[in-house]
Amino acid sequence: MVNSNVEGVEQSVSTGTLPGWEQVDSLVAASHDRNRGCKDGAVADYIPVLAQADPELFGVCVVEVDGGVHVTGDADVEFSIQSISKAFVYALVCEEFGHAAMADLVGVNNTGLAFNSVIAIELNDGHPMNPMVNAGALATTALMPGSAPDKQWDAIHSGLSAFAGRDLVLDEVVYRSEAVTNTRNRAIARLLESYGRIGRDPLEVVDVYTKQCSLRVSARDLAIMGATLADGGVNPVTGKRVVSAEVCRDTLAVLAANGLYERSGEWLFEIGLPGKSGVSGGLLTVSPGKAGIGAFSPRLDPAGNSVRGQQATAYLSRVLGLNIFASQAYAPNESRGY
Ligand code: GLN
Repeated sequence: MVNSNVEGVEQSVSTGTLPGWEQVDSLVAASHDRNRGCKDGAVADYIPVLAQADPELFGVCVVEVDGGVHVTGDADVEFSIQSISKAFVYALVCEEFGHAAMADLVGVNNTGLAFNSVIAIELNDGHPMNPMVNAGALATTALMPGSAPDKQWDAIHSGLSAFAGRDLVLDEVVYRSEAVTNTRNRAIARLLESYGRIGRDPLEVVDVYTKQCSLRVSARDLAIMGATLADGGVNPVTGKRVVSAEVCRDTLAVLAANGLYERSGEWLFEIGLPGKSGVSGGLLTVSPGKAGIGAFSPRLDPAGNSVRGQQATAYLSRVLGLNIFASQAYAPNESRGY
């Protein structure tokens, strides 16, 4: 694999600025108004308690890297973070192990298969492939520093709380509902064990992972957590550094390639930003150097991504000029003299 860390050479950054405050505020409100009527998709039900979610809930929040917050709709309603936790646990573990070790131990490439695929593990000789599918997330959680599972959980809990800038709370009902039904995740952890890819008791790893997925967040929390990744690892609301700028860069690259599972390519094509979805309807998007976007709406597409969350984010990416692949000619041809 090519290693982009060149010794003695400073990292350059690709940034820009958002439109003015009032304009961002009204565009965030518009992202909600334009999409509130959409009823497409279905609420997840494979974790029993998630089926009880109110499908009408819809909130959007943008947090700028200067700490400014724009909210609309149900942006303060809490839900379980689910797979979005994978992004932040990855960042915390990456902070410990570094760029090269993480690429080797967990991987960065898309499986092209569902988030809980077992076949993907078999097809890749037991390699978990990337930290955003369940196999890679379990392998990542297993790497979390801590002498015992409760120490690992404490580190995850306080790390994710630092990203959010407040003490996040475990949703005991979601945790218990998932803990008694997560036979597939237990099978995935056992399969990783059979390949020597998990260095701890697999069922204890599943338990810590299930807890991390059950932390309660709001769209506002997600936007602050995303803004921390957009801000070189410093939480723009608390002013505290959570991870290094290098870790943010690596985490965002992994999100761009894998954050929306087998739909990651389409997402990048349409929205052009790193993002991460979760089955309770949360969607986190990061505009490096500019802002974090948090969206929440429980109805999902077949891959498990919030439908209205994607639509609102697509709109914001376009109108706020966030797509990292978009450019305009530096100057008209005539002024270049050729
Ligand atoms: N806790 C869920 C699971 O492991 C998370 C999945 C998701 O959000 N896509 O199945």
